[in-house]
Amino acid sequence: MKIKAIRNSELKNNPIMKKHLLFTIKNPNVVANILKKYTNKKILKKPISYAIAVCPNCKKVKGNSHYKNKKIYHNCLNCGKKSQGNYEDFDYWFYHKPLAIPRLEIFNIDICITGLDHYNEGDFTVREKLIKAYNSTAKFPKTLYTQIVLSKDGEIMGKSRGNAKLISLEELRNCFNRNPNAKTILI
Ligand SMILES: [Zn+2]
Repeated sequence: MKIKAIRNSELKNNPIMKKHLLFTIKNPNVVANILKKYTNKKILKKPISYAIAVCPNCKKVKGNSHYKNKKIYHNCLNCGKKSQGNYEDFDYWFYHKPLAIPRLEIFNIDICITGLDHYNEGDFTVREKLIKAYNSTAKFPKTLYTQIVLSKDGEIMGKSRGNAKLISLEELRNCFNRNPNAKTILI
């Protein structure tokens, strides 16, 4: 098996990515309504945005972006700079749930592997509804949900949380083998 990692930023100029990213900037309510209906999470009333430009001045993703007359208009709430330009002139933040749609379509993906925490958030149905709402030709992929790995005190682990842990592959395999049917593994 050959593995090739592809960054989302490399796909910026792919016409399928461009189409879905601009659709997301123009129609945040399409995503918001699906999330409201099919997840058990509360949706912020404001701001409703699932894709915005990165400020070319301070490089922060904080503000609002609009697309009008084939131009991106970005208002940065961090440094106050107002920018405008073509789609290609900006980098973007794109929320992972709608971002999956162009990736599925571009690579014609058969199977996704993801953590069970995403299933618990309603991602399985959300993805199906987003594919339809985006008029995407992506096929609905089979999905393998993996067990959730938590720290010993039951916390989600992450670098930003400061509780990430480096363990050997053998150690990890042993954790899963001890209880293969568990939905949650504690490390
Ligand atoms: Zn800025």
